[in-house]
Amino acid sequence: MDLLNTLVDKGLRRELPTREEALAVLATSDDDVLDVVAAAGKVRRHWFGRRVKLNYLVNLKSGLCPEDCSYCSQRLGSSTGILKYTWLKPEQASQAAAAGLAGGAKRVCLVASGRGPTDRDVDRVAGTIKAIKEQNEGVEVCACLGLLSDGQAERLREAGADAYNHNLNTSESTYGDITTTHTYADRVDTVNKAHAAGLSACSGLIAGMGESDEDLVDVVFSLRALDPDSVPVNFLIPVEGTPLAAEWNLTPQRCLRILAMVRFVCPDIEVRIAGGREVHLRSMQPVALHLANSIFLGDYLTTEGQAGKADLEMIADAGFEVEGADQVTLPEHRVHAGGGCGSHAEAGCGSHEDAGCGSHEGGGVCGTAAAGAAAAAPAANEPRTDLVAVRRRGAGTDLAPNA
Ligand code: SF4
Repeated sequence: MDLLNTLVDKGLRRELPTREEALAVLATSDDDVLDVVAAAGKVRRHWFGRRVKLNYLVNLKSGLCPEDCSYCSQRLGSSTGILKYTWLKPEQASQAAAAGLAGGAKRVCLVASGRGPTDRDVDRVAGTIKAIKEQNEGVEVCACLGLLSDGQAERLREAGADAYNHNLNTSESTYGDITTTHTYADRVDTVNKAHAAGLSACSGLIAGMGESDEDLVDVVFSLRALDPDSVPVNFLIPVEGTPLAAEWNLTPQRCLRILAMVRFVCPDIEVRIAGGREVHLRSMQPVALHLANSIFLGDYLTTEGQAGKADLEMIADAGFEVEGADQVTLPEHRVHAGGGCGSHAEAGCGSHEDAGCGSHEGGGVCGTAAAGAAAAAPAANEPRTDLVAVRRRGAGTDLAPNA
């Protein structure tokens, strides 16, 4: 296909595709999906080899958010039954982080629900970053605390944060349809603040909220213009009790096309599969590793992911390798450009939600939920509410985390 040959050439040269080319990737048929994956996979391997970076979410503060992001199970008035708790103590957060690091993660993403941190919250998170860094040499820490006020990014940087995550989530033209309590411009401003403070910027999207192909291309081109070091791609987890609970719009093939488009537009940027991987890609998850070079290990903010052991087995079985703490994530030209994450930066959570905000939530499935479905296989486009499990272990509980 001429389109794919053109996109591979451009990806290897770090040249931006046209919007029409990006739209054409999303418009390819299911018959062509493996050709699309093979082409985008060449770009992925050129810049990132067969490495998979593992990131680990620690939900520092869960639920009770005053904002109204419609995809988020932590929004004001949510009836999702998620865990609700206030700030974890530094020792508790450090303990949760240690589990993820022991499982192979090299980055810890510290996330808190809310519109944005107070200065006291920033002090609190600074103490947590210090505790984690003291106990885990070489760990990358990303903060994801919502909208930042002036000076807060600098204070997080001074405290040892490597990266800051805040997702754009969707296109500017549809942003008002999913959230009314803050604006798209507010989000862009926070990503720019993180950048200006010398933090590695992480910003991504949520697919599956009813957006058009044009919206997806818009947000990915906007992300590329912000020049983040990492782009988390969330697939909406329609959690019961949220306004988007009925939005089951994704098939595994659609998810692969979206990831391929993001890879072509962001060839040398860390592309991370975030919330919704288990729910929407399902048994096609290992194929998606040919497109993304990064995933979250274990659970998400408010929902459960598949067992950490299953993540590791999937990576090995697909012929990939977990990126070590001593390996630099980004290609050399990006590291030296000052972005950061060459080795430690990126982040994770779009901001905070399940499928939501940035990345973290949703998720799903625990490896157990899928069991027992042998009798009647559901169609690929059927809602899979059976794969959505609210997180009941790890941070905020007495049970061991999944890592
Ligand atoms: S995405 Fe973040 S800001 Fe929006 S409701 Fe959820 S926790 Fe609050």
